[in-house]
Amino acid sequence: MTRGRADIVVELPAIRHNVALLRQHAGVPVMTVVKADGYGHGLAPAGQAAREGGATWLGVATIDEALALRAAGDTGRVLCWLTVPGEDHAAAIEADVDVTVYSRAELAEVVAAAAGRAARVQVKVDTGLSRGGAPRGEWEELFRRCADEERAGRIRVTGVWSHFACSDEPDHPANDAQQAAFDDALALAAAAGLSPEVRHLSNSAAALLRPAARYDLVRLGLASYGLDPAPGRSPDLRTAHRPGLLPAMGAVARLAMVKRVAAGESVSYGHTWTADRPTTLGLVPVGYADGVPRHAGNRAEVLVRGKRRPVRGRVCMDQFVVDLGDDHAEPGDEAWLFGTGLLGEPTAQEWAEWCDTISYEIVSRIGGRFRRGWV
Ligand code: PLP
Repeated sequence: MTRGRADIVVELPAIRHNVALLRQHAGVPVMTVVKADGYGHGLAPAGQAAREGGATWLGVATIDEALALRAAGDTGRVLCWLTVPGEDHAAAIEADVDVTVYSRAELAEVVAAAAGRAARVQVKVDTGLSRGGAPRGEWEELFRRCADEERAGRIRVTGVWSHFACSDEPDHPANDAQQAAFDDALALAAAAGLSPEVRHLSNSAAALLRPAARYDLVRLGLASYGLDPAPGRSPDLRTAHRPGLLPAMGAVARLAMVKRVAAGESVSYGHTWTADRPTTLGLVPVGYADGVPRHAGNRAEVLVRGKRRPVRGRVCMDQFVVDLGDDHAEPGDEAWLFGTGLLGEPTAQEWAEWCDTISYEIVSRIGGRFRRGWV
């Protein structure tokens, strides 16, 4: 891939490798979560790489994302889980997508949209995240309705599932409580006469740290892209710098300008950094409009000519400044924001720490005027 002014480089073999490794490690089938444009890695390319790595399922939030996978030629099982009333369930059912229902109203909508076809439905129960999913008091009735619809041939209940709130904190008491609640839900589903094909609860962190919660399927997002969902807590599947998961995304820009400044010169809006000695500054031509967090100002580092260089001053909309010290550099030199870490460049996890966020946000928001390419 030839480098432009700023590139996102997505290594599809890394996604294939990660999915295969995770599949083997988990010992159960895998759903690779490719919502939000594959966490920034590209919905269709990430989905295809995941299939090649052995993903039985792909998971997305919206019907549009599911249909985009179909339009790109994916024919495997796909689950979507976040709709609003009036969305095009009929298109999802027509495209053989499994749809998630949280409520009786949603079930009724799916049944109406199915128009005689047996829609594949998964029931999401809220076991304690208090986000989507049927609240506990409604489980029994919802399962009963689902069983009635299934008997009438209008739906097929293919799954019952839920989502952890604190899986990256393995000792958090909410994990045990949620798993126990999930077991209660499964018992109620069975009592209603349902026998779902897949019961699933775990995301990446839970799949790595809580083997007893793997059930029939694990839904893996972040780890599939080679990032550690519970930094420092998954010693058997280490990420950057060690064999194991391989970060799949790199972000690189080419210096637009290099210039020498005197001691006492201040940098960028607000003059939040002042040189205490003469130094060379490099101008990196990407900014917060491209997903580089403004919070990175005076905190983050990039790799130029094999050395880490600190960001000086505030990150602007289109650009930021790095300190090259007394080293020689030239306009056009590569500045690696993040990557595998194997060549000394920062990782998305390091950017997350510098920016008081999580690596999910770093990779899913980077974009804008970066050109994205797949290798
Ligand atoms: N399952 C659901 C319902 C999700 O929303 C997500 C992502 O947030 C995942 C699984 C994957 O989570 P992770 O990226 O932590 O593996």
